[in-house]
Amino acid sequence: MAAPLTKTLSYLVPDALAGEVRIGMRLSVPLGRRRAVGFLLELTRGPARGLKPVAALLDPEPLIPETLIPLFRRAAAYYQHPIGQVIATALPAGLAGRGEAPPVLRETFYRPTAAEGRPRGERQARMLELIRMRGEVSLSELRQLFPSPYPQLKRLLEAELVSCRTEERLRDPFLSWPVAPDSGPLLTAEQDEALKRLQPLLEAPRFETFLLHGVTGSGKTEVYLRAIDRVVGLGRTALVLVPEIALTPQLVARFRARFAGRAEISVLHSGLSDGERYDAWRSILRGRAEIVIGARSAVFAPLQRLGLIVVDEEHEASYKQSEGFRYHARDLALLRGQQQRIPVLLGSATPSLPSYHRMVSGQGVLLTLRERAGGQPLPTVELVDMTETLFRTLLSEPLVGALRANLERGEQSLLLLNRRGFAPYLLCGSCGRGFRCPNCDISLTWHRSEGSLRCHYCDFGQPPPDACPACGGIDLDPQGAGTERLEAELSELFPAARIARMDRDTTSGKGAHRSLVEGMLAGRFDILVGTQMVAKGHDFPGVTLVGVLNADAPLNFPDFRAGERTFALLAQVAGRAGRGDRPGRVLLQTFSPDHYVFDAVVSHDYRRFCEAELAARRSLGYPPFGHLVNLVLAGNLQSRVEEAAAALAARLQPLPTGVEILGPVPCLLPRLRGRFRMQILLKASRRPPLRQLLDRLAALSRPVPAGVSLAVDVDPVDM
Ligand code: ADP
Ligand code: ZN
Repeated sequence: MAAPLTKTLSYLVPDALAGEVRIGMRLSVPLGRRRAVGFLLELTRGPARGLKPVAALLDPEPLIPETLIPLFRRAAAYYQHPIGQVIATALPAGLAGRGEAPPVLRETFYRPTAAEGRPRGERQARMLELIRMRGEVSLSELRQLFPSPYPQLKRLLEAELVSCRTEERLRDPFLSWPVAPDSGPLLTAEQDEALKRLQPLLEAPRFETFLLHGVTGSGKTEVYLRAIDRVVGLGRTALVLVPEIALTPQLVARFRARFAGRAEISVLHSGLSDGERYDAWRSILRGRAEIVIGARSAVFAPLQRLGLIVVDEEHEASYKQSEGFRYHARDLALLRGQQQRIPVLLGSATPSLPSYHRMVSGQGVLLTLRERAGGQPLPTVELVDMTETLFRTLLSEPLVGALRANLERGEQSLLLLNRRGFAPYLLCGSCGRGFRCPNCDISLTWHRSEGSLRCHYCDFGQPPPDACPACGGIDLDPQGAGTERLEAELSELFPAARIARMDRDTTSGKGAHRSLVEGMLAGRFDILVGTQMVAKGHDFPGVTLVGVLNADAPLNFPDFRAGERTFALLAQVAGRAGRGDRPGRVLLQTFSPDHYVFDAVVSHDYRRFCEAELAARRSLGYPPFGHLVNLVLAGNLQSRVEEAAAALAARLQPLPTGVEILGPVPCLLPRLRGRFRMQILLKASRRPPLRQLLDRLAALSRPVPAGVSLAVDVDPVDM
């Protein structure tokens, strides 16, 4: 049921439907006085007394394979989310709610018959000639050649000079992409070793977690490709999860090149229309695609005979959905692997601490690639101590010097500044007044080229005033810097350089991100500046210099994962340098050069970083040594939300032994899109008492009053 019910409901299958009904179908059922769409999860025999009958079957074939149903059930229980909404998240949009599937596209084909009769009129004759010559012609083609062909076709059919058949046509926007087949390089010894460890489980699948920890450029993707090749060769299918498909065009292209003509690849990405999504779902379900590549929600792709799940860049926070059904795709991938008894391969240059900890505590197999695949050395990483610079310029002298040298050598550079826009604040020079979002109460970012002050949370925008609304002063000063300002400063410093920018603002158009990637690969740009987007997965062999402007900025984030995230971002962006045949150099500008994160980045020592970080987490009881659940309350009236939070915290008392309650406190973003937010963080060293408390919460009647919403975030990533 796509309704917020935590329980499933039982209905009677009437005799008339008994022959057709199968698990996984959508049903129309009575619910109160309405009709609702439901999913058939289980068929049982038993007394029918008191049960209402199913009104209709909505699909001719099941939309959900039976193997996914246990995944939905466990996910619903684990994340404390109504199972109907879990299924609705998994299915292509629209299927769960309305019951109306997007229209199926059909194509009609015309063939000549053996009949000898003569057509009437010249148009009919030409049409028949074409159909006879070609053996079969589709209606869409006929319509291109003969505007409004219907009367003639009708006559030809009536005269039995042609026959027709109709078949379903699946939309696939990727079908038209050309690819050059590629058979892959000779494996390095380390890649070979990793594959040897995987091999037995590909041949005779059972559940196991593998963590492929490979330095940037070590050829992890090649390991995925070979493993999947084996899986497909054995007649099974593979699922590949990536953090964001639009940002991984190179990976998709490599898969398509490798499997061209040998295996069908279905790419699930956010650019698909509802109809395309529906088609992709059905074609996967029918076994037409052996390989599915997709982001977060693809963990539910209805693949049958699954033989391997790959989770690339498993450390990425985007695997966690932050609204609605707040699941973590990596964790559900592991659950799916366990349920379907197949191996799961997690890969990263900077594995998440929970995954790393899982391996060192014996719950999986760690595969390591220490060297870059082409034998290139890892880049040298240097710190630029910004506390020593007298003038707080955006670009330090050493970085400017390195950029200049790189330009003179004709090599490419990449600069990371993790803030888009021109300046994060616009302040009145006379009275110091700033501008804040009316919905989110955070500072508005100044986007100069667009001429607006914008909220990076809700996208609210307004033109900047000519004068300060508080004091009438006319000096409005941009404070701090974003990528737009960096780009402008670089053009002044290096007027001849070809500079491009990659951030959410420059990549929102269709194909914009891809054309930036292609521009870098083709050597059309000398310097690419951007937000964390530039750090992700790209393989730009021409880049020999990487600079990071505020390398310590993410450390100041009030979150116990700040160190882990900073390390991952810096190691990933550093890894973009020196992937081709010339060595790479990385300069990190920082105000806190003594922080242990920088030691680890400079020495490329992930393990040292993990040991230090794990020790800190252990002493504080944070994941992976403890478990968290965040209860988020939100509403339009601040006082109401505060009262509701206090009341809820009181109702959770007495706490089961081992559970701690932190809060209620305002959320990190206390106001978001016009709603006030409070949180109650639950922390426990073991899961069972936490579960017990959540069950109690679920049993509360009206846990929050009207006008306040409550979201349960199990294993929260943003707090
Ligand atoms: P990662 O995913 O670990 O960052 P990639 O799989 O993208 O690394 O590989 C980095 C580069 O090395 C790519 O250009 C890839 O084609 C190349 N490569 C991978 N494996 C090999 C190999 N065995 N021999 C030579 N080059 C390789
Ligand atoms: Zn806002």
